Amino acid sequence: MTGIIENPVDILNPDGRGAVILVCEHASNHIPDAYGGLGLDDAARESHAAWDPGALPLARLLAQALDAPLVAGRISRLVYDCNRPPDAASAMPERSEMIDVPGNHGLDANARRDRTKSIYEPFTKALTEVIAARHPPVALITVHSFSPTWFGTPRAVEIGILHDTDSRLADLMLAEAPAPAPRRIERNAPYGPEDGVTHTLRLHGLAGGRPNVMLEVRQDLLRTDAAQQQMADEILHMLSPALAALGLGKAHDA
Ligand SMILES: [Zn+2]
Repeated sequence: MTGIIENPVDILNPDGRGAVILVCEHASNHIPDAYGGLGLDDAARESHAAWDPGALPLARLLAQALDAPLVAGRISRLVYDCNRPPDAASAMPERSEMIDVPGNHGLDANARRDRTKSIYEPFTKALTEVIAARHPPVALITVHSFSPTWFGTPRAVEIGILHDTDSRLADLMLAEAPAPAPRRIERNAPYGPEDGVTHTLRLHGLAGGRPNVMLEVRQDLLRTDAAQQQMADEILHMLSPALAALGLGKAHDA
């Protein structure tokens, strides 16, 4: 397997002047030819195991509204999951939910290092540089989507507001959640820090003392352009005043 990978990361709106940096680690289901499709069939390559459907268009809308740079992965998380450190088994998973990933079975240290250098390190470097180019303070927001069912069980949560040990931004967003709630919005659901999903927050947010939050939106709420715009508006309704309370931008006026 070769280490030659086309550009593994996109930086959208690099000159955005908002006090926010957006990240979408699971934006793409692209598997470079060098990996032989990881032995997956087309259905598996299109499935949520390979990426977060709807997350990138949602992140783009948020980037536009917040005038924020957006750092987005261009390679499937089944090749390398950029929200996992290199020593995590889940960085190159042999299974994802009910999908077996033949191309990830028995990877040796060289193969793991090759993917780490080809995908994870350029992604991390790009995000580090985008952050370094900003004048502090700045908030870090990662944008994800999750499947409506998990091992066959429907998930009731619609929007997850996730955090690690710094809950400032999450607390403020949850305080802005509409009541009575038209949406089921939950803290640290359907995942939490115990699942290892806060790697990017820890590395690029917590380590620099930056307010940070991870957004998880159920995929059935992101299937059309109109749905994506509505979800962006709903998130901004919580996020903009939360950012303003931290001195990071003006309150949303909608
Ligand atoms: Zn994700």
